[in-house]
Amino acid sequence: MSAINRFLLENKLRIATNPCVSPDFCLDWSALRDELRAGKAMKVYAKSRLETAAGAFTLVENSQGDCAWRLQGDATKASGLDDGAALSDGTTVFPATFANLLKLKNLIQAHHPASTIFPTAAEQLGRSTLGIGARFTTLHWPAVEWAMSALSLGMTANQNSIPRELVYDTNVMLAGKLDTVPFPFIGTNVPEGHQGQSVEGMSHGCVLSKLKTGFHRRGIPWSFNADHQPIGGKFDNREDALVTGCVLASYITFDLSPELAQTKVADDAGAWVATNVPAALVATVKARVAKAGLTLNEADFAKLLAYVWPSLQKMKRRDEKYAAARAKLFTTDVGRAYLRELSIDELPGLTTAETTAIMLALCEALAMKIHFVAPAFGFQKNMPYPDNAALRSLIEQQWAVCQNFGASIGFHSGSGKSAENYQVMGQVTGSRLEIKTSGRYTYEMGRALFASKNAADQALWRDWYKFTLELALLGAYSADATEQKMARVFITDALAKSGRSTDVFASPTATRGALESLAASPEHMFWFEYNFLHVLAAGGRAEKAALGDHTPAGYQQRARFYAISDEGRLNFSKNIATYIVFLAENTGLAPAATCAAANKLLAGYTSLDAMLNDISK
Ligand SMILES: [Zn+2]
Repeated sequence: MSAINRFLLENKLRIATNPCVSPDFCLDWSALRDELRAGKAMKVYAKSRLETAAGAFTLVENSQGDCAWRLQGDATKASGLDDGAALSDGTTVFPATFANLLKLKNLIQAHHPASTIFPTAAEQLGRSTLGIGARFTTLHWPAVEWAMSALSLGMTANQNSIPRELVYDTNVMLAGKLDTVPFPFIGTNVPEGHQGQSVEGMSHGCVLSKLKTGFHRRGIPWSFNADHQPIGGKFDNREDALVTGCVLASYITFDLSPELAQTKVADDAGAWVATNVPAALVATVKARVAKAGLTLNEADFAKLLAYVWPSLQKMKRRDEKYAAARAKLFTTDVGRAYLRELSIDELPGLTTAETTAIMLALCEALAMKIHFVAPAFGFQKNMPYPDNAALRSLIEQQWAVCQNFGASIGFHSGSGKSAENYQVMGQVTGSRLEIKTSGRYTYEMGRALFASKNAADQALWRDWYKFTLELALLGAYSADATEQKMARVFITDALAKSGRSTDVFASPTATRGALESLAASPEHMFWFEYNFLHVLAAGGRAEKAALGDHTPAGYQQRARFYAISDEGRLNFSKNIATYIVFLAENTGLAPAATCAAANKLLAGYTSLDAMLNDISK
């Protein structure tokens, strides 16, 4: 038994209420196998049935959330699936381990290359998509499946930053050796993987979700984005683990910023380039940029090249590793293919057209096809862009370049923009874009609980709200200048929007009084900004030391979210789907009439079952 499965079992952290922590979707195979042999009743996902050369597999699950694959067919043809057990009815059952999932992928894609059970790099997904961050995993995916089905539109239906949001290696986690991520607005560092799930666990869960709801029967390709994969810098020594962990991702976002952060540009950049960058490559890039209609300033070009070249070499090496890992594990072309995004919004300042052109020309010269490039447009997370005419002009400059290189535009920090902002993005690019959203869905969970009449949902909501209120109060009187400033901005915004006085920082008591006089609401900025940290806060405590806790105390807190009521889940699912429909409509990814029909359906659902039943159609 793996260390993570032993840890979860010993602490009674089961998949049913703590999914996607282990890479496996079966923690205790001997118990599940015994139940299957004894013919104990369990959940059979009839819609999951899928065909392979070995026969038909169906997913079954016990009350703890442990899953097995039941094969009706010839087990000897099941290409090495591990730990099979023959049942008296002639079927064979296999545990839903991560290792078995990888083998099943080959079986499925060899039999049916157009299968949409696993994420793929289908052509359309590399042109136009919506990036849907999935912080609440199994609670979240069915709603995305519903939206893709209702709109007949494939999306980046699974997306999270690794290792920032997801645990990249559960053994490192168990050893207490995860690195930390600085959160200047909280004035502290929080352990990586602050949502608790592992990258393999999420890779596994998003596939099983498609089978449980029968989404795969719709034949709509979808992708899984390993977001902001850090290149270079302090991540050099664990790049192999990062590559292995996201082997099921069909879409990689390269983030050069760790290497850039430690790159010192030589005083004489031109001389450095002449010595360190192959002359033929420099000539190719210059010619390509000229062909794209841009004139280069030699000195600026040399400076940029000297700045990015070390990171690009590492990116190329990493890309070869992603390809090699897929070639080693997967037997089919469709199973090995992946899309690429180059994130350059981390470079300082607004991205110029020249910078985008040079970066795309460099990738082209390095034989790395880039499907999406993400320039900086000066977006603030969760804030509309204030000037649509200015936005249009910025995007037009970028689009002229991207079009020339056959790349689409990735809009990072894409949540919470206005309908008009999304319309501009869609119009200028002809919908050749990706909007990345993630934090939005934590907000939608808050709205879902806030609106639920279920007593336990309400209790969780109240604790969640109080947690953010206490963090805001702590921050407002912190000795750390950034932390204090940000906390006061969040508090002031909430008070001002509620029509209250914002002159409340005379004393902690005055601030507390003002905050506690507000009605609890998911619309308050301080709730919005601190909310994601409640999920894995030990004991739900509003203390810096409690945040991102990967011990049983953190996971017991996480389990509260996975125990929300059917009403809470229905609210959450409707909220997610509504937001996706809104994005699809305004970016022009789906026709207005299709979106109107989807909204009408959504408004009519009074049970989660009814909503989820419609996914497979
Ligand atoms: Zn980015």
